[in-house]
Amino acid sequence: MAVLPIRITGDPVLHSPAAVVTEFGPELRTLVENMFETMDAAPGVGLAGPQVGEPLRLFVYGWTDDDDVLHRGVAINPVLWISPASVDELDEDEESEGCLSVPGERFPLRRSQRAILEAVDLEGKPFEVRADGWLARIFQHEFDHLDGVLYVDRLTHPFGKQAQKAIRKNSWGAPGLSWLPGEDHLED
Ligand code: ZN
Repeated sequence: MAVLPIRITGDPVLHSPAAVVTEFGPELRTLVENMFETMDAAPGVGLAGPQVGEPLRLFVYGWTDDDDVLHRGVAINPVLWISPASVDELDEDEESEGCLSVPGERFPLRRSQRAILEAVDLEGKPFEVRADGWLARIFQHEFDHLDGVLYVDRLTHPFGKQAQKAIRKNSWGAPGLSWLPGEDHLED
């Protein structure tokens, strides 16, 4: 297993739609193992293929809820169904999220409270996860990656501007930038 470099915003692979997974062989298994290791090393609660330079429709996730229940898995070729999002005022404390491809930054973003994830596993077997709250947020965030969308692309005023400023300040937003969990401590 290996920790993979994580691409930083500006790299074209993060801003293009990913391709459907068609090969369910040992290479896919190794990629997924490495993605779990990379996510855990970062540390993060989700990681999508494009973030490690693989333009494929898959993501891994791993998050422990308030009841100490671990939600962990890999979603390949996912479909995501989401409930309508609330239009209440944003709560900056409760609704701020981050992204390993915009490391060390967090901004508030409204997400749907509930989501249903349909995907296949490493064997190509279909499964479904009904999520609410933070897990639903993780699924929405990771699913967006597969369409070339980062959460900073979705931010509303004034947070979109703040994010662009942070990206400029870090000299990101150009192709070819990455960081290595365990070596570059950008998220821990
Ligand atoms: Zn992300």
